Amino acid sequence: MTAKLIDGKHIAQVIRDKWKLRVDELIKKGIRPGLGVIIVGSDPASLVYVGNKTKACESVGISSKQYDLPVTITEEELLAKIDELNNDPAINGILVQLPLPKHIDVNNVLAKISVEKDVDGFHLYNMGALVTGKMIFPPCTPYGIKCLLDYTNIDVEGKNAVVIGSSNIVGKPMALMLLSMNATVSICNIYTYYLTQYTSLADILIVATGVPGLIKKEMVKPGAVVIDVGINRLPDGRLVGDVDYEGVKEVASYITPVPGGVGPMTITMLLVNTIMAAERSNKLAKPYIDFDMA
Ligand code: NAD
Repeated sequence: MTAKLIDGKHIAQVIRDKWKLRVDELIKKGIRPGLGVIIVGSDPASLVYVGNKTKACESVGISSKQYDLPVTITEEELLAKIDELNNDPAINGILVQLPLPKHIDVNNVLAKISVEKDVDGFHLYNMGALVTGKMIFPPCTPYGIKCLLDYTNIDVEGKNAVVIGSSNIVGKPMALMLLSMNATVSICNIYTYYLTQYTSLADILIVATGVPGLIKKEMVKPGAVVIDVGINRLPDGRLVGDVDYEGVKEVASYITPVPGGVGPMTITMLLVNTIMAAERSNKLAKPYIDFDMA
C-alpha cells in the first residue's frame, strides 16, 4: 500500500478562501477583524512565526498589529499591556507568542487574556470547554488536524485513535477533540513503557513529540491514518517530522507530509478563530463551534 497524501497546504487554502468571504461580509458591515500579536524579546524563530501569522492575516483581510516588547519587561507590565488590548474594541483576538522569558509566569499571562479574545485557545476556560465536549476557541494545531480529517472525509467514530505526546497545546486538546468525535482514545508520552503496543493498534495515529523519525513502519497498523505534527530541523538543514515518512507511507492509508501538512493548518485556524471572534463580538455568530462543523 502507498498512502495517499493529506495536502495541508491545499486544505488550508480552501479554508482560507471560505473564511475570506466571511471577512468580506464583515467589511461590508464596517467591521474589520483585528488581531493583536505580542512578542517579548527578539528570539529569531518567534519573529519568523509572528511574521508568518501577520502575513496570513493580511491575506484574508484581518488587520494585525504587532507589539514588540523588550525582553526586560516585567510580568506586571506585560499583564497591563494585555489588559489594554482586552479593552481595545479594534482588537478581536490576542496572541502572546510563546515561549516567554523565564521571569514571566506563562500561566498568569494566558489567564489574563480575555476569554472572548483568546484566539490561541490556551485559556483555562477554553481548555475546559473541550473537556465538556464543546469548542469555543479550540487550540489551533489540534483544531487544524480535526479539519484535515474532516476535509479528507476520514471517519473517526468508533476508531482507535492514539495520540503520541501529551502537551497542553497539542496532545491533550487533540485527545479531547477525538473523544468528542467518538473515537476510542489513548494518549502516550515519554513515560509510555512500550509505545508499539499502542501505535500498532491505532487506526488514527497522531504524533506530536519533537523526536525526528520516532514512528517507524513496523510500529504502524497497515491502513492507518498517520498525522505528523512534529517539526524538527536536522543538522543538515532538512525539516522533518516525528514520523519516518518514507517507510510509513508504505503501510499507511493516509499520511501528512512535513512540511506542508499540519503546519499551514495551524496558522489558518488562528485566522478562523480571529474572524469568529469578530463575528461573535458583533453578535453575528454562535458563542461555540459545533463538532461537526469544519
Ligand atoms: P512538547 O515538548 O511540549 O511535548 C512533547 C510531548 O511528546 C510530551 O508529552 C512528551 O512526553 C512526548 N514525548 C517526547 N519524546 C517522546 C518519546 N520518545 N516517546 C513518546 N512520547 C514522547 O511539544 P509540543 O509543543 O506538543 O510539540 C511537539 C512537536 O510538534 C514539536 O516538534 C513541535 O515543533 C511540533 N509542533 C508543530 C506544530 C505545527 O503547527 N505543525 C504546532 C505545535 C507544535
